[in-house]
Amino acid sequence: FSALNLDELTAQRDRALRDYEALVQRGLSLDLTRGKPSGRQLDLASALLALPGGHTAADGTDCRNYGGLQGLPEIREMFGGLLQVPAGQLIAAGNSSLSLMHDSIVHALLGRVPGAERRWVEEPRIAFLCPVPGYDRHFALCERFGIELIAVPMTAEGPDMDVVERLVLEDPQVKGIWCVPKYSNPSGVSYSDETVRRLAAMPAAAPDFRIFWDNAYAVHHLTDTPVEIADLLALCAESGNPDRAFVFGSTSKITFSGGGVAFFGSSPANVAWLLGHMAKGTIGPDKINQLRHVEFLRDEDGVLEHMRRHRELIRPKFDAVDLILTKELGGTGLASWSNPAGGYFIGLDVLEGCARQVVSRAAEAGIALTPAGATHPYGDDPRDSTIRIAPTYPELDEVELAIAGLAVCVRLVGTEKLLEQAR
Ligand code: PMP
Repeated sequence: FSALNLDELTAQRDRALRDYEALVQRGLSLDLTRGKPSGRQLDLASALLALPGGHTAADGTDCRNYGGLQGLPEIREMFGGLLQVPAGQLIAAGNSSLSLMHDSIVHALLGRVPGAERRWVEEPRIAFLCPVPGYDRHFALCERFGIELIAVPMTAEGPDMDVVERLVLEDPQVKGIWCVPKYSNPSGVSYSDETVRRLAAMPAAAPDFRIFWDNAYAVHHLTDTPVEIADLLALCAESGNPDRAFVFGSTSKITFSGGGVAFFGSSPANVAWLLGHMAKGTIGPDKINQLRHVEFLRDEDGVLEHMRRHRELIRPKFDAVDLILTKELGGTGLASWSNPAGGYFIGLDVLEGCARQVVSRAAEAGIALTPAGATHPYGDDPRDSTIRIAPTYPELDEVELAIAGLAVCVRLVGTEKLLEQAR
């Protein structure tokens, strides 16, 4: 559209305005805000509600009783391979990996992490690198504890490693980096082997630098060719930085988002460190829930088979988003979007300075989107161009309606922007 003359552009804007007015008249009420599984996805795991059949773990442990802080060995075996962590170095905990990330930070603040000269709370300043666009809850967690957020651009292979290496080498107050290495939230990018190798091997000014490796979408494939990422934990150990990686994952988007099992994996030293602190807060995790997950999912293949059923339900929604955006916006130059091979999100990039307006226009038309800027530290997307689309929760026909409506908003705001620039 940027090649159109003033009259043509005005005609396009007027058409978009008429479409937008018609859209508002429809009085829609649709929600594309959060990456939640739909009811039908949760139904796939309904059998869990009638499990476990017994209460005895493989080693004879009575799961009804206290103890077993590290979690049942059989669930750690099941997920160790999927998360690329040896089962002995994996903790199976409660239902939320986010709470494990939270607690890891709290314990690093209040109790010295292996390699640290002092507790983080004694540092004059703490900063985390945040590849953008990224996950808003990572950023909110850091903000809550006064940890400074430094944005790092994403490339098609993961964070821009030239920038990461420089910042981590220059600044000893940079203590961490947030990474969603597979089917990243929200761009869908998976890290290349070279990116993972550089993260593991790069020299860091802080002896207690940590990679927060949030592998939330490890098995959440949308295609027949699952993405495999390099093994960060092994590469860290090989590179002489054995304690650098904290690996997180959960079954939140495998079984029940509110009743799954969460995991923490790391070096033996880090695992001992975290278990030591966890022991002050609990006598053991919910082993009954872990046992029912073992009975239901059975083994690694069982997990992958279950994820194929999820894919059958959500793939059509991702396809619909791409189809409608292509039909409505393809070739206009008003937007570009990701076509992820897995995960839960589609990143939509609109013209610079337009994302907030698109989201507010959509809200006026009854289509709720994640606030523009949420994908960036402090809610501030300096280009104001990134929008996150979460298509899994609504029914397919609702996704179609919402995306068609969103496309109208993008056309309206985009043509208005181009007109403004042309005048
Ligand atoms: N990490 C990422 C990247 C996520 O997208 C989400 C959920 N949206 C979570 C963590 C939350 O994980 P959990 O349910 O295990 O706390």
